[in-house]
Amino acid sequence: MRCGLYIRVSTDMQKEKGESLDVQLKRLKAYVDSKEDWSIAEIYKDAGVSAKNINRPEFNKMIEDIDQDRIDVILCTKLDRLFRNTRDFLNTSDNFEKKNITFVCLEGNIDTSSPAGRVFSTIRAAFAQFERETTADRVRDVMRSRAEEGKWNGGISPYGYYSENKELKINTKEEKVIRELYALYLEHRSIRHIVHHFNAGGIKTRKGDLWSSTSIRRMLTNPFYYGIVTYSKRSHTYSGELRRNKKPIFSNGKHPPIISKELFDNVQETIKQQSREAPKANAKYLLTGIVYCGACGSKMHGMAHRRLKKVHRYYRCSGYVQKGSAKCKGNAIRVDNLEGSIIGDLRKFSLNPNRLEDALKDLTELNSDNSDAIRERINSMKNRLIQIQTKKQKIFELYEEGNINKADFLSRKNLAEEEDILVNKEMGALKERVSGTDFSSYDLEYTLGLCKNIKEVYDDLDLPDRKELIRSLLSEINVDKHDIEYSMPVQPKFISFTQNSGLFVKSSDTGRGSSRKPA
Ligand SMILES: [Zn+2]
Repeated sequence: MRCGLYIRVSTDMQKEKGESLDVQLKRLKAYVDSKEDWSIAEIYKDAGVSAKNINRPEFNKMIEDIDQDRIDVILCTKLDRLFRNTRDFLNTSDNFEKKNITFVCLEGNIDTSSPAGRVFSTIRAAFAQFERETTADRVRDVMRSRAEEGKWNGGISPYGYYSENKELKINTKEEKVIRELYALYLEHRSIRHIVHHFNAGGIKTRKGDLWSSTSIRRMLTNPFYYGIVTYSKRSHTYSGELRRNKKPIFSNGKHPPIISKELFDNVQETIKQQSREAPKANAKYLLTGIVYCGACGSKMHGMAHRRLKKVHRYYRCSGYVQKGSAKCKGNAIRVDNLEGSIIGDLRKFSLNPNRLEDALKDLTELNSDNSDAIRERINSMKNRLIQIQTKKQKIFELYEEGNINKADFLSRKNLAEEEDILVNKEMGALKERVSGTDFSSYDLEYTLGLCKNIKEVYDDLDLPDRKELIRSLLSEINVDKHDIEYSMPVQPKFISFTQNSGLFVKSSDTGRGSSRKPA
């Protein structure tokens, strides 16, 4: 890795007790030395200019070197050496990211060779720029009032639906899966059975992945499917007791139901019976079900440790707990550490709304591009069907006029009919694909608003509200020894995310399941 060291001392700073160029240089050199294959390629020295001054010759040379691919890493001692303000930082670091430049700033331990480093640097630089605007109450009110209006809380349209002009319509292919799901559960009383049945039968999730127990359970217990929008129906206190939320919201959704209330109630009753024996666990761990071990892909389950009368709570890799060190070395993270960094990171989203919006646009375009191509193919198939129809008519005429014998007529007719069936089948499959994932219902402003205020409001929210909030923003969290990765429902590009959710399906289905407790 070729490193460029940027050092700067303004005339003002020299008067003060600022770090001299030599001191900065020494510290940066030491950092480079500490890295195995890093070496110094260039030193940029802007002496005696202030950061506010646009005219920084060495800074410009640095940018030039980056553009010419002469540098892999940029190092500085303090952010304000390199950047004049937050905007400058965001623009320049954008450029770094595009050019795949690693950025290191000694103060604050920023090192963007790790995703965590990227996150912290952005938060840090933009922190001052955003003042609190909303209180916890207001955020909660927004979430609640949406539910009261019969709107679902953010995210892309629920499985079984697609949105058209901000309205939810039934996706017939997914609707069929949901109906089957409920019927299968009543028949076999086993979520695991459904998971196996679907995965073995080639029924995929909307993203084309395998099903997991969690996703199946979530669909089985979601009253949305009989037409109800809920908000904070039940909750757990920190001591783990289940309590009913004082102000739960059930409202009639604006969407068409897929199943009857009777069927839903039946399934809930069965689930209750089935889980009666299962141990109560994870009640006070609000991220259970969406946290995964970055090392082995297993879910991470909550656990408490009592030491010196103090209780320490962790999320711990269930692969390790259930299968031992052959599976995983035992990844664990403190509950408060994980929650803390999530809040910080989510806030980051709001600092860069354009990029979230761009990512969203890309996804939508990508999606509609595909749809256009598929629609074109569907059209050409329709034409083909008309041709086949004409052909069949002709064959019949030939036979009628005595130009071909009966055997000839039948074999020609069969051929045409076979093709008819094949084309119809393929067309059906294509039609289903067109009605796939849809991002147009993703409420960008709502999401950004939540993220922006999350740090301030989080502490004031109680557990069910926190749970609701995080789940409406994140669909998956991967915890590694060094990094935490997130998936949002729309997977914005600037957050690293795990695409291979096949991993967690595997781990949840091959496990014995003895202590498994779904969220
Ligand atoms: Zn693990």
